[in-house]
Amino acid sequence: MSAAPATDPPVAEGAISQLLRPIRGRLIVAAILAGLGTALTLLPLAAIAYLAGLALDPADGGVWALGSTAHVWPVIAGSLACLMLGMILVSLGEMLAHLLDNQITSHLRLAITRRLGKVPLGWFTARASGEVKQAMQDDVDTLHSLTAHFYTTVGRSLGAVSFATVYLFATDWRMAVISLLPFPLFFLFVSRATRASSANMQAFGAGMARINNAVVEFVNGITVVKSFGIEGKAQANYREAVDGFALAFEDFARPLVSAMANAHALITPVVVLGIVLAFGTLFTWLGWIEAIDLLPFVLVAPSLCAPLLLLSYITHDLHNATGAALRIQQLLATPELARPTAAAIDLPARTELQVQNLSYSYDGETPVLSNIDLTLRPGTVTAVVGPSGAGKSTLARLLLRFFDPDTGRITLGGVDLRQIDSTQLYRHIGFVLQDVRLIHASLRDNIALGRASASLDEIEQAARLANVHERIIALPRGYDSVVGEDAQLSGGELQRVSIARAMLLDPAVLVLDEATAAADAENEVHIQQALSRFAQGRTVLVIAHRLDTVMHADHIILIDHGSIQEQGTHAQLLATGGRYARLWQAGDYPNTELAEHGRC
Ligand code: ATP
Repeated sequence: MSAAPATDPPVAEGAISQLLRPIRGRLIVAAILAGLGTALTLLPLAAIAYLAGLALDPADGGVWALGSTAHVWPVIAGSLACLMLGMILVSLGEMLAHLLDNQITSHLRLAITRRLGKVPLGWFTARASGEVKQAMQDDVDTLHSLTAHFYTTVGRSLGAVSFATVYLFATDWRMAVISLLPFPLFFLFVSRATRASSANMQAFGAGMARINNAVVEFVNGITVVKSFGIEGKAQANYREAVDGFALAFEDFARPLVSAMANAHALITPVVVLGIVLAFGTLFTWLGWIEAIDLLPFVLVAPSLCAPLLLLSYITHDLHNATGAALRIQQLLATPELARPTAAAIDLPARTELQVQNLSYSYDGETPVLSNIDLTLRPGTVTAVVGPSGAGKSTLARLLLRFFDPDTGRITLGGVDLRQIDSTQLYRHIGFVLQDVRLIHASLRDNIALGRASASLDEIEQAARLANVHERIIALPRGYDSVVGEDAQLSGGELQRVSIARAMLLDPAVLVLDEATAAADAENEVHIQQALSRFAQGRTVLVIAHRLDTVMHADHIILIDHGSIQEQGTHAQLLATGGRYARLWQAGDYPNTELAEHGRC
């Protein structure tokens, strides 16, 4: 029994009907085909009952005269034709529904991909890739039961019920009422049972979430748990969550299980047949109906069980599909990054990056950066220093347009970043960030990500500059090694690969956010030298945690609590005798005031 997420029905229905809008009309056609087909496949049962009536009626000469009765063969031929046509229509309906399912699946995946291509890059840093995978893969798959099966199952059930109702009521209304009674009773019991257990649904969902959290906590902290020998405590959390869930599950399942079992038993063919025969015998004894006229009820009523049971199962799946549809809708409604309104702009190669009166907050309330003004001049290196949490990385992300500032603006060559197409922007601005992201591809492709046309010589040259070439050629497949498969690289090595990628791109502006954070001391020196060579003639912003690595920068900015506290060259800042000077004089930068909050 799977958990059905609690959803607000009108919102959920809206989400489903919006998602299915492109195929809704054709889904209804599929349902009509399946419904008509099912009704046609049941017609031979009426023919059998009719022929049996003829065969057993002495007035018509009985079974021996059946072959010579004029309309018998057309009835047989007609019912066989109906059976064949019915099966063809049902197959066509099912095939159409599956084709539409394929169509909507690819339509939704493309729509999500297109949307994700337009959302701010900062949106991804705040999210686990699992969330996107859930919507793109799992949720789209969950919709399968809705598109490929639900509509046709409804069609088949309606077809069967309509045929049975008309035919059986035309035969004898009293027997029709008795024979069809188990079916509405079944739905009544199911809806009562569902309502009774839905009161405990929230506790069920919360119990499930507690287990998930306990598992994630346990797995994520396994190294800490093992090294501190607290396995017992970590397992106790999990055990408590499981015990809590078991109780919630019992409350949820108790009213459901027995009621559902009774309801399902009510519409098994043998029970329906038993009811028809018991009441049929009684009605015959009362003289209300001829025994031969019971045949239509014996044949048709049990045949309703299969489609209606299927309908009840698929309705249960519908709860999951509803939750999936809502999550897909939410992803498709993710706000997009504003797109340039003007035509593509020709940016000068050597270009100035200017930040004017910039403020930004992640939550729309607490400002992380306020009133920032700064200019990165071509051919100069600007260093940003400050304590952990001061807003340095946020500034770097805004310069890369991972998101837009709340107030103020950033211009490149005098043009607002919002007016520059992202492809053009990232040709001009290269970056190396703290958290390195490589794609699941060869090292060659990873380095050439921004310039697919680069030759192997150029790729190797960039890797040499970034001090990672020797490491790559030491791998069994060298530059063809695939990241995460046969290229298991350390944090420092991954960072050097991303530096090589930025170098190959040869951008006019370079943003380095603690680009050597994951390198060891020896490598850091090599990378610093490579970056210094590479930085010449470019507009560079470097975020650093050690003052000695930025003392030669053309301009140094000290940020704290989201605003610029001091700025100037190393000499100017020392001469002012402010905070920077105190830190420098303290000498041991990592132990200074700036580092009190963590590593800078
Ligand atoms: P560090 O030197 O430790 O990297 P930093 O100076 O680069 O720190 P930022 O990463 O810019 O600081 O963070 C500034 C503030 O913004 C911090 O309070 C941080 O908690 C918050 N912050 C950073 N990223 C996000 C995010 N994606 N969503 C919400 N708040 C964030």
